[in-house]
Amino acid sequence: MVYLDYSATTPCRKEVLESLVAVTNEKIGNPNSLHRLGVEAKQLEGQATKQIADILGCKSSEVIYTSGATEANNMAIKGVAFAYKNRGKHIITTNLEHSSIYGPLGYLQKLGFTVDVVSTNAYGIVDLEDLKHLIREDTILVTIASVNSETGLSQPILEIANLLNAYPKCFFHVDMTQSVGKIRIPIDHIDLISFSAHKFYGMKGIGCLIKKESISLEPLLHGGKSTTVYRSGTPALPLIVSISKALRLAEEELDCNYNCVQNYSNILIEKLKEYPNVVINHNAFCIPHILNISVMHTKPETLLHALEKHDIYISTQSACSSGTKISRSVLEFSKEEAVASHSVRISLSGHMGIEEIQEFLQQFDICYHELEFDRNGR
Ligand code: PMP
Repeated sequence: MVYLDYSATTPCRKEVLESLVAVTNEKIGNPNSLHRLGVEAKQLEGQATKQIADILGCKSSEVIYTSGATEANNMAIKGVAFAYKNRGKHIITTNLEHSSIYGPLGYLQKLGFTVDVVSTNAYGIVDLEDLKHLIREDTILVTIASVNSETGLSQPILEIANLLNAYPKCFFHVDMTQSVGKIRIPIDHIDLISFSAHKFYGMKGIGCLIKKESISLEPLLHGGKSTTVYRSGTPALPLIVSISKALRLAEEELDCNYNCVQNYSNILIEKLKEYPNVVINHNAFCIPHILNISVMHTKPETLLHALEKHDIYISTQSACSSGTKISRSVLEFSKEEAVASHSVRISLSGHMGIEEIQEFLQQFDICYHELEFDRNGR
């Protein structure tokens, strides 16, 4: 098997799973219980949270655990919107976001909020002048992903954060789901950050929203205090320890994995650009972990299933929006509808071997010619 869908999800690594099992078996107390077992669990929760905070460069009190990035994005967007609706009802985003950003934004539009989309330049990078132009007296939030999940295109988050510093009434939320554990982005000037453990070899079902202490947030779930007051429910200690461990390991291996993935990406691009019907949707601003290509003579799902027969797994768009025909992200990147409706995503990991890249290229060659023959034969 050659798995090339690491941006959809990664397997959980052995060490992470082992700590999850150990904490499940050995730390049975509720961290909010007053007895010794509760106190021990609370200590472990505190250590795990401190480790996350130290790695990211925030305070422990700014870490809110969620079920994943979808919940974190919903919590950030709806939470800010509901808490600050009297200040304003205007939000700015891009055409390069995940469905878990567009979902809550669409919901808020029904409730009377206005959403503007900032334009991008020829490379797909946010136009800072346009962003400045769009900010109004009633703008309460700008939400922009650090890395687009379909193309790997990364945005100049620091420059955007610096620009937004001049507008203290407007918060900046960054969906960092595709960058945490892959590239480092200083978060000092960002108000809210979302991410999910299953993108960096952690467990599915746990993620974080990092929220600056000074920001109010209307919770999505009301109830008692959990690890914070923003999301009620018994703290999921095994998952909390597991995300902390997965993040630490990803951080330790980040540079090595980056170099490895860069090498794989270069090899793939060099080979794939030899095919006349392949368009490489990649530029210098894309991270190497994601390679988007359009194979112009075949439907994305036809190519996906053809490769699947050879035990090779890639994806069409992102797993969460694969029902739609045209990729909004690739359209924003390429500005060409034909390219955007033929795109597939190959996503890589530093844990893969070079032989998997070679196997993919070999099978891709077979599928490419078979599908070309099918089309011309008809
Ligand atoms: N944001 C981005 C950029 C993503 O790639 C994903 C996962 N595809 C999500 C949010 C949602 O993450 P989760 O599956 O943890 O809800």
